[in-house]
Amino acid sequence: MTASRARREVLQTVRWLEERRLYTGTSGNVSCRVDAGFLVTPTGIACDALAAGDMVHVGLDGRARGPLLPSSEWRLHRDIYQSRPEVAAIVHTHSPFATALSCLRRPIPAFHYMVAKTGGGQLRCARYATYGTEALSKNALAALAGRRACLLANHGVVALGADAAAARLLAEEIELLALQFVVARSAGKPAILPAAEMNRVARKFAGYGQPSSRKRPGNPTPTGA
Ligand code: 13P
Ligand code: ZN
Repeated sequence: MTASRARREVLQTVRWLEERRLYTGTSGNVSCRVDAGFLVTPTGIACDALAAGDMVHVGLDGRARGPLLPSSEWRLHRDIYQSRPEVAAIVHTHSPFATALSCLRRPIPAFHYMVAKTGGGQLRCARYATYGTEALSKNALAALAGRRACLLANHGVVALGADAAAARLLAEEIELLALQFVVARSAGKPAILPAAEMNRVARKFAGYGQPSSRKRPGNPTPTGA
């Protein structure tokens, strides 16, 4: 992807998340992969004040280019791009329900079949580390092993995608699941789906949706990505 297209995609994703109140103020960051690096939101600038030209290019060597400093979570984004070649976009938010659950430092279990969208039978919660640190990045990578998303303890959520539309849709889905889990827990003890059923769902997701030729932007591919 060209740098100018990536700038537009990052901004479009920020606006999309902002409209849904998943990303407010400076609580979050977004990036898209480009050759030899990625374009990421700058640190400390409220999402409603961002312009495409503000996005910062960071190389896979960690060197940032441009007048603004990159997100304090640039290392998290860099380490994910380095270790997960299939990932081309990353969304990090402090969306309210997912963040509330991250403070329990527990995974979200398979209370609903859509948890399988995150790439496994439960949504893991990464161990706590201070924001913007190498330790946070390490903990997140461990929780993301074989998955497309995780919670960050006492912090928020990270969602990965093969493109920006997939990453932001997953972030939205996780917030919805978190809300549903909170409501189910407050009403009783939700039944948890067994691993065999979650594996069945994951196999079914592989053929879900319209064939690629009829795919619309923002809708999942048949691979569930
Ligand atoms: P930045 O403004 O540096 O991207 O920080 C926001 C954030 O969510 C830190 O985890
Ligand atoms: Zn954060």
